[in-house]
Amino acid sequence: MRHLLYDIFEQIYSLEKSGSKIIKLNVGEPDWKPPRAAIEAAAFSMYSGEGKYGSSSGEIELRELLSQAHECKTENITITPGSKFAIYSLLRMHLKRGDNAIISSPYWTAYSLICKHIGAKIKLIETADNGWKPDISKFEDAIDSRTRLIILNSPSNPTSIALEEDKESELLFLAQRKGILLFADDAYRDLCFDGRKERPLAPNLIIVNSFSKTFGMTGWRIGYAVMPKETASKLSQLNRITITNVPLFLQKGVLSALKHKKRFVRKVRNVCMRRLTFASKFLSNTLRFQKPNAGFYIFPALPNGMDASLFADKLLQNGVAVVPGMSFGNYKSHIRISLCYNERILAQAFKKINSLLT
Ligand code: PMP
Repeated sequence: MRHLLYDIFEQIYSLEKSGSKIIKLNVGEPDWKPPRAAIEAAAFSMYSGEGKYGSSSGEIELRELLSQAHECKTENITITPGSKFAIYSLLRMHLKRGDNAIISSPYWTAYSLICKHIGAKIKLIETADNGWKPDISKFEDAIDSRTRLIILNSPSNPTSIALEEDKESELLFLAQRKGILLFADDAYRDLCFDGRKERPLAPNLIIVNSFSKTFGMTGWRIGYAVMPKETASKLSQLNRITITNVPLFLQKGVLSALKHKKRFVRKVRNVCMRRLTFASKFLSNTLRFQKPNAGFYIFPALPNGMDASLFADKLLQNGVAVVPGMSFGNYKSHIRISLCYNERILAQAFKKINSLLT
C-alpha cells in the first residue's frame, strides 16, 4: 500500500543509487545494537541446530518471562513476527467493515492504513491544543454503537509524548465501562524517561509490544501480544497457518536480551535524553516543539505555517530526510524528526535544517 511515509524510502533509495549521501532522520529505527549477549545467544542457538520448526504460540521460556512482566499466564501471550503483524491481525479480528476505532491524533500511519484495508473507520481525537496529550473525556464523547476499540499509543509515534499513568488507567476504566477494548501499542513504553514497568493485563485490554525499538532489533522481526486466552489462541492459530512460528534462534536471542533489560534500557534511555537536549539547543532558533518525555522523535511545527511537504522535499535534496506531518494526520506544517544518529551526525543534519529556515 502506497503512503507518503513509505514513499520517502523509495525516494531515498533512488537518490542513494545515484550516489547521494542521505542522513535518514525519517526512520523510526534506533542506531543502537542489540545487547551482545542477545546476539551471541541467537548465534549459539543456530549453531546448536535450533533452526527447526517450533511452537506457533512462541517458546515457553520466553512466554513465561513475559507473563511474569505482564502479570498474566503464558496462555495469554503469543509471539509474532514483529509487533506490526500482531497489530494487523488483532485489528482484523476485532474490527468489521463499518466499525470504528478511536485514535488520538497525530497517530502512527499504519493504524489508518490497516483500518482502511479492513474497511473500518478511524475517529480522531485532536491533541494539538493540549501538548499532544488527549483529553480522556473526548474519547467518551466519540464512542458510538460501532466503536469497537480505542488505540492507545503512549509514548506516541510521532510525538514521543507519553500520557501520565493515571490517565492511561482512566482510559482503561472508560473502555471497561463502555464494554469496548483498549488496544495498547507499547512499542516505545520502555523508552519513557520516568521508567515504567510493563503494563499488566486487565479485562478489556490487549497489549501489543515490540523488541524493535528497545533493543535495536528492528530487522529481527519479533514482537508479541498479551490478551485474553481465547484471543491468544486465535492469534497462535493464525501464526500456525501463515508463518508457522517465529524462528527459535530469534526467540533465544530475545530471551537473553530480556535478562539484560534493566541495564540496557537505562543506557538507551540516557542516549535518547542526551540527543533530545542536543536537538532542543541546536534547533531552538528555528523550530518549536513540545519536549518529549520518552523516546527519540520530535514533532516540530515549521515557522510561519510553512508547507512541510515542500520543505521535506527541499531538505531531502540537501541530503537530510524527515517525514512531513501529513503522514500522521492533518499536520501540513509539522515534520517528524527521528533522533537516531549520534550528535556529530545530528549536528550536520540540524545545520542543513537551520540553513533552510533562516
Ligand atoms: N507500533 C508503533 C507505534 C511503531 O512506530 C512501530 C514501528 N515503527 C511498530 C508498532 C512496529 O514495530 P515492529 O513491527 O518492528 O515490532
